[in-house]
Amino acid sequence: MPRIFFLGTAGAGGVPGRAMNCILIETSKERIVLDFGEGCGQRLEQHGYTLCDFTLVYISHLHMDHYNGLFDAVVRSSIRGCNKLVLAAAGGVYRGLGNIVELLPRSIRSNVVFIEIPLDGLRIGSFFLKPIPVNHSIETYGLYIEVSGKRIVYSADTMPTRGIINLLNNVDLLIHEVTLPSNKSDLSPILGHTSVSQALKLKEMMNQDSILAIVHTTTESMKELREVSLPRGVLVPYDHTILGI
Ligand SMILES: [Zn+2]
Repeated sequence: MPRIFFLGTAGAGGVPGRAMNCILIETSKERIVLDFGEGCGQRLEQHGYTLCDFTLVYISHLHMDHYNGLFDAVVRSSIRGCNKLVLAAAGGVYRGLGNIVELLPRSIRSNVVFIEIPLDGLRIGSFFLKPIPVNHSIETYGLYIEVSGKRIVYSADTMPTRGIINLLNNVDLLIHEVTLPSNKSDLSPILGHTSVSQALKLKEMMNQDSILAIVHTTTESMKELREVSLPRGVLVPYDHTILGI
């Protein structure tokens, strides 16, 4: 059964002490990492991993809170004898990955492997990965994941979109961003982010036994999430939360 490690649960402007976007999905055979924000390398090392332990690192888009942990991680990993980095992305994000690699130490740049995930999906080991175009302020792809008979959707940064809603009645776990408090829902289409009330509406469209895990929180959305009553099946993970599905 897949296990999900919520290692970085904050977006930019998150609660102090939280690392930024960093989610590890692990089976008995493979591990992938979804986004790699600031503090992700430290979190992975706290759990005993280096970059050599992952099949790939998926970058959803090129905002810094989704990749700027890479510099720290490659230095940490190379100290531990690992100089490998497999970066995966879709569409224009894939084509822009070279700019990220320019930020990395020269000694590891030549050891970076790039994988483009086509929009009709790619099977990698026991994982099937299919990018989901979403609606953010820059080109962004969430990710549909099938592994060990389970279906997982990762929204990345987005307002609620038809592409994600269409998947909801058939998903075991939705990992969705909640950047905005409910009283700023009108900013959702302008900023390309989701509010607390919008995310809880998504849960209403999901099966009773499925789970909505709320990530990419900010000080504003967390303040509301601490106070609001949450329906059954809604998880607000802190960094280091481990979930089996
Ligand atoms: Zn973000």
